[in-house]
Amino acid sequence: MEHKLSIYNTLSRKKELFTPLHEPKVGMYVCGPTVYGDPHLGHARPAITFDILFRYLNYLGYKVRYVRNITDVGHLENDADEGEDKIAKKARLDQIEPMEVVQYYVNRYHSAMDALNVLPPSIEPHASGHIMEQIEFTQRILDAGYAYESEGSVYFDVVKYNKDYKYGKLSGRNIEEMLETTRTLDGQSEKRRSVDFALWKKASPEHIMRWQAPWSMGFPGWHMECSAMGTKYLGDEFDIHGGGMDLMFPHHECEIAQSCAALGKDSVRYWMHNNMITIGGQKMGKSLGNFITLEQFFTGQHSLLSKPFSPMTIRFFILQAHYRSTVDFSSEALEASEKGLERLMEGYARLQKLTPSAQSTVDVTGLKASCGAAMNDDLNTPIVISHLFDALRNINLVYDGKAAIAEKDLSELKEVFKLFMIDLLGLKDEVNSAEGTEAYQKAIDLLLNIRLEAKKNKDWATSDRIRNELTAMGFEIKDTKDGFEWRLS
Ligand code: ZN
Repeated sequence: MEHKLSIYNTLSRKKELFTPLHEPKVGMYVCGPTVYGDPHLGHARPAITFDILFRYLNYLGYKVRYVRNITDVGHLENDADEGEDKIAKKARLDQIEPMEVVQYYVNRYHSAMDALNVLPPSIEPHASGHIMEQIEFTQRILDAGYAYESEGSVYFDVVKYNKDYKYGKLSGRNIEEMLETTRTLDGQSEKRRSVDFALWKKASPEHIMRWQAPWSMGFPGWHMECSAMGTKYLGDEFDIHGGGMDLMFPHHECEIAQSCAALGKDSVRYWMHNNMITIGGQKMGKSLGNFITLEQFFTGQHSLLSKPFSPMTIRFFILQAHYRSTVDFSSEALEASEKGLERLMEGYARLQKLTPSAQSTVDVTGLKASCGAAMNDDLNTPIVISHLFDALRNINLVYDGKAAIAEKDLSELKEVFKLFMIDLLGLKDEVNSAEGTEAYQKAIDLLLNIRLEAKKNKDWATSDRIRNELTAMGFEIKDTKDGFEWRLS
C-alpha cells in the first residue's frame, strides 16, 4: 500500500512509517472498558482516538481486524493484585448477578459509543469468555520458567524475566529502582516479591466469579486477558496495540512480559497511547467530585456543567487536541468547541448549496494534500480541523457572493469535506441530519417553496402560517434574494 502514514511508537519513542506485517491486513488491539460503571470522558478518548486510526487505515485500503475487549473479570481494586473483583463487588452491592452488571454497562457503553459515532470493532471479546485461553497462556509461561505457583495462585517472576529480557522497556521504568523502592514482603504474602504480578489467582470462599484451572478454582489476573485474546484473534505477532497512557504501566508492561515469556518475543509492533483528560487541571476521580459520565455531559446534569453538551461536541472537543497531548476539560472549553462545530456544520451545509461559476476567484488547491499530510503525521486531527476552517472562509465568501468558484473546484471542495470531516473525523450534523434523511430536508424545502408561491400570489395567510408553524417547531427561516435558507436550531 502506497501511503505516508507515520505513527508514534511508544516503544521506540519516535514516529515510524507504518508498515504492516501482512499487507494488506492490519491487526489492531485496543484495551476496552472495565464494565462496572457508567462510561465517562476517560472512555471516550481512547475509543475516539482509535476510531480515527481504524477509519484512516480502512480509507488507505487496509483490511483491518480491530479487536477491542471487554474486561469483565479479574480487574481487582488495586494493581497489586489485592482486593475484590470490581464487577463482583458491584454485583454484591446491587444484589444482582455479576453478568447482569456486565451486560448493563456493556449496553450503556455501546449506546454512548454509538452516540459519539465510534464505529464498532470487528471483534469485541469478553475476558470471561476466554478463560481457557488465559489458562493455556499462563501454562506456557510456567513451562518457560518465568512464573511460579504459590498456594494455588500463579505469579510472574519479574526478576528472573528481567535477567533475560528487559522489564520496563515500554514505560521506561527501571526494575532495580523498583525493587529498591517497593516494600519488602513480610513472608506472609504468596508472592516472592512485590513487583511480581498475578497470572492466576485462587478464589477466596466468598469470590463468586471462579473457574477450574490446574492450580485452583480461581480467576485470571487482569493483564492476562489482553495477551490471550490479542494473540488468539490477531496471531502471535500483530501490528498495533493501543490504549490510554494510564495503561502503559503496569498493564501493557506486563502484557509485553507475558508475551516475551511465553512466545519469546513481544507480540506487538506498534504501541500507541492516547494522553489523559484532566478536569480543571486535575485527574478525574470519584473522590475529587470531578467525575463526569458521558450521560451527564449529554444531559447537562452535573454541577460542573453549564449546560448539556451533545455527543458530537464531545467528539469534536477531543479531536481538537492531538491524541498525545493532554486535554483539559472545562465548560467554557466545551462551549467554544460547540460554537466551532456549529460553524463547521453550517459551512458544510452551505457548501452543498453553492452554485458554480465559470471561473474560481478562490484557491482550493492543495487542501486535500494538506489534510492528508496532517493525518499522515501521527493522526494530527487539530491540523486537519484548522485546514477545514481555512477552507470555510472561502465557502462563506462564495456563499455571500464575494467570490466565485468553478465547477471543478467546487466538487473537489465537497469531496475533501465529505472525506475528512464526515468519513475520517466522523463528525455529523446532529441537528440537521438528526432525522437524517434527504427526504426530511426535501420536505422542509417543499413547504418553504409552497410558502414562496403563496407570497407571490399575495396569499399572506398561507405564507404566514407556514412560517409561524415551522418557527414554533424550532426552525429558523431566513429569506434571501434567491429564496430561503433554513436550519433547525
Ligand atoms: Zn488490556
